Amino acid sequence: MQGHYLSTSIAYVKGCGPSKAALLSKELGLHTYADALTHFPFRYVDRTRFQPIGLISESMSFVQSIGAIEHKEWLPGKGKSRFTVHLRDKSGSMELTWFGNMGWLDDKLQLGQVLIVAGKPIFYKGQPGMSHPDFEVLQPGQALQPGLSPMYPSSDKLRKIGLDPKGIGRLLKQIIEGLPAPIPENLPEALLHRYNLIGRDQAFRWIHFPPDQTALQAARYRLKFEELFMAQFRMLQTKARNQATQPGIPLPQLGAMFHGFYERHLPFALTNAQKRVLKEIRADVKSGRQMNRLLQGDVGSGKTVVAVLTALMAMDNGFQTALLAPTEILAQQHFLGISELLSPLGIQVGILTGSSKKAERIKLHAALQNGEIALLVGTHALLEEAVQFQNLGMAIIDEQHRFGVAQRARLWEKARSLPPHVLVMTATPIPRTLAMTLYGDLDVSVIDELPPGRKNVITIHKGEEVRNEVYRFIRQQVEAGRQIYLVYPLIDESKKLDYKNMLEGFEVFKQHLPDIPADVLHGQMKPADKESVMARFVKGHVKVLVSTTVIEVGVNVPNASVMVIESAERFGLSQLHQLRGRVGRGAEQSYCILLTGRNLSKEAKERMAVMVATNDGFKIAEKDLELRGPGDIEGTRQSGEMQFKLASLVEDAPVLEQVRSAVWHIIERDPELQAPEHAALLRYLQARERSQGPWAMIS
Ligand code: ADP
Ligand code: MG
Repeated sequence: MQGHYLSTSIAYVKGCGPSKAALLSKELGLHTYADALTHFPFRYVDRTRFQPIGLISESMSFVQSIGAIEHKEWLPGKGKSRFTVHLRDKSGSMELTWFGNMGWLDDKLQLGQVLIVAGKPIFYKGQPGMSHPDFEVLQPGQALQPGLSPMYPSSDKLRKIGLDPKGIGRLLKQIIEGLPAPIPENLPEALLHRYNLIGRDQAFRWIHFPPDQTALQAARYRLKFEELFMAQFRMLQTKARNQATQPGIPLPQLGAMFHGFYERHLPFALTNAQKRVLKEIRADVKSGRQMNRLLQGDVGSGKTVVAVLTALMAMDNGFQTALLAPTEILAQQHFLGISELLSPLGIQVGILTGSSKKAERIKLHAALQNGEIALLVGTHALLEEAVQFQNLGMAIIDEQHRFGVAQRARLWEKARSLPPHVLVMTATPIPRTLAMTLYGDLDVSVIDELPPGRKNVITIHKGEEVRNEVYRFIRQQVEAGRQIYLVYPLIDESKKLDYKNMLEGFEVFKQHLPDIPADVLHGQMKPADKESVMARFVKGHVKVLVSTTVIEVGVNVPNASVMVIESAERFGLSQLHQLRGRVGRGAEQSYCILLTGRNLSKEAKERMAVMVATNDGFKIAEKDLELRGPGDIEGTRQSGEMQFKLASLVEDAPVLEQVRSAVWHIIERDPELQAPEHAALLRYLQARERSQGPWAMIS
């Protein structure tokens, strides 16, 4: 194979050898030339640009300066002695400090010598300084090396054997200068042209040793592009193949069901966003191809009614619909709400959950098979083999992040000949870039508008010590006729301590407000008990619901207008936003109170601040992505798919857009990469799939 030499062990690099190679492999996972070439610098230092010492400020995280040594001395320190050097340029002076056995340095540095130093500035009594800076002595007459010097991720152990951030650069220089042939190109020539990308060999050379900023940007752009391109290609190819070859059930009619409901029984006017999404769905199901659509809409944006209207499209054409909910409570709620909506049309809705009784099941199975039940709502139980439909045409999955891809596939098996259309709904607003990387194989619709008249939820962040104030507020709200959620974190279902906290919290609450009807809800209760608590809350008999996050998803009680979240610092941003979405659904002003302990981490403080500042789910999702990185976002499949070395899903959205259009351009013309100009790309993708490793990036 082309470029075989790239799998050479780095032990063969001049100046490396087996012991250094072993440590590089252990510490950084670098084994081959290819690994080393994809070990990218984290920073570049321009050896010709210097910060005047007098202008260094505390906000700078890294500076490089040049000056003359005007003074040096040894100072006694606590236990360790301290060697300091005063460096002066025209604008000011700073103090460089080294601790420990620095005799060799004292010998090396002479008064009057010119020194280049680089590092993080520290300030002492208003004066700039550096501790253990990177430095280089400039010999008289020596010219400054132009270009950017790379600095590489390293480790303490590697530093000790000379492979510090600069030392790894020397190794890379050896590798790059010794390459027997150019690094093979993997993108088609025409694409390089169209997107103004430099060649691959050039890009690798320049990303390690850029002659200037322009070259560096060109190299980074090219390699980021490539990284995203390879991640998207197979996904979009799959999507194209499905579209071309996966026929779907044609649902051409809109009839009595859809129109009857829309014109006579819809309790409100649809928002423009809801109408647009329905048009998109309609176009899919008419097309004769299978719909695979992700519907994103912030909590409370009205996805349920879209699901109902979508089910009616299927019914009008004689097909059944399955609606999958992630929890028992949510399935119950959907069942009750949707039955009520559809009863005037004489449509029978069924429900199947883990707690459905055997006798009910038997009846239900029969009613499904003879087609009496047009819409079945349920949990995972719906996926069991015994559940057979007469003619399933539509599968709607609510709050997708609890359902895996495999489960989606099991729904397919329930169909007779053609797979059902699939609508996946999520209230976890996934930032656009992430949606494109994760669900590149689905079409995406967005409800980006809330029904009219919604008031923003007022969010307040308080320390736990003000709990009495919170109790007073709860009493006042209950007296005004409102209902309240009081939520405790339950990160891990099996954690006893979390239950204990919640149950204790409930006791304390009852002591303080004994006359207010309150009850507890959590995941370890029997389904029937959960149901009855929830039913009493929905009816307004229970005023305060003390619970774990089981109420997180989908539950809709418009009269509940206060959400108190205990130990809010233990929740991620998306989850806080989901919880807050349980209130603000009625006409009343709603509140979300975040209670936290002392000593919040900086990140936790930031999370609280974001919640207080905005109600916009997409902004929150973007911030979440920024704070936690994509691997942790709820609703994502495997983090591995999103680990990029260069590309950032937060910053590189525009690059990703370009990449997608580049990928489509090829897939539209040559979907299976049979053309000679795509041979290198095909080879590369195949090699990458054989060995999903860093090797894949370069082989
Ligand atoms: P979610 O997208 O979170 O699932 P729901 O479908 O539960 O949201 O809708 C939230 C609330 O908004 C429900 O009470 C629903 O009846 C109401 N609703 C939905 N669409 C509209 C609309 N166009 N106008 C007014 N209210 C609406
Ligand atoms: Mg919902």
